[in-house]
Amino acid sequence: MWIKNKYWHKEGNQKWVFKTKESSLYNIASTKIVRHIKIKSKHHVFDGQEEYWNKRRTMNRTTKTRIDLGMEKQKFRCNVCKGLFKHDSVIELDHIIPQVGGGTDKADSRQVLHRHCHDTKTRTDGSLDQRQHTKKKGLIAKDIKAIHALSVT
Ligand SMILES: [Zn+2]
Repeated sequence: MWIKNKYWHKEGNQKWVFKTKESSLYNIASTKIVRHIKIKSKHHVFDGQEEYWNKRRTMNRTTKTRIDLGMEKQKFRCNVCKGLFKHDSVIELDHIIPQVGGGTDKADSRQVLHRHCHDTKTRTDGSLDQRQHTKKKGLIAKDIKAIHALSVT
């Protein structure tokens, strides 16, 4: 009887809830069932209906990625070439103003692009030059530390 009184308690409309003072056992029956939405019979991935496939790609997610949110914001179009993303497109997140150039990581300073459009933009926005410069600075700092370490010992 003492075991029942110690571990089993009444909670809401449930009479047998296993719990201690600190925590309770998760009730698996409380997990909502989320059914998969079937693909409409007239659609297949090669039918050219990219808008349908793009919407489907993001609509059923419980946790949307930054790429999903960016795709929805841009109405499933690349900000560089303005083309629709296709089901097999490689989509990447880009910072409109590169972070190495002082840009932020906030939602309004990000965009989603095709990988090849992202590569083109990165080549021309100056971020590669700034990264090279930062790497050189890093090497110099490492060299100074190494020299300092040698002179201390
Ligand atoms: Zn593009």
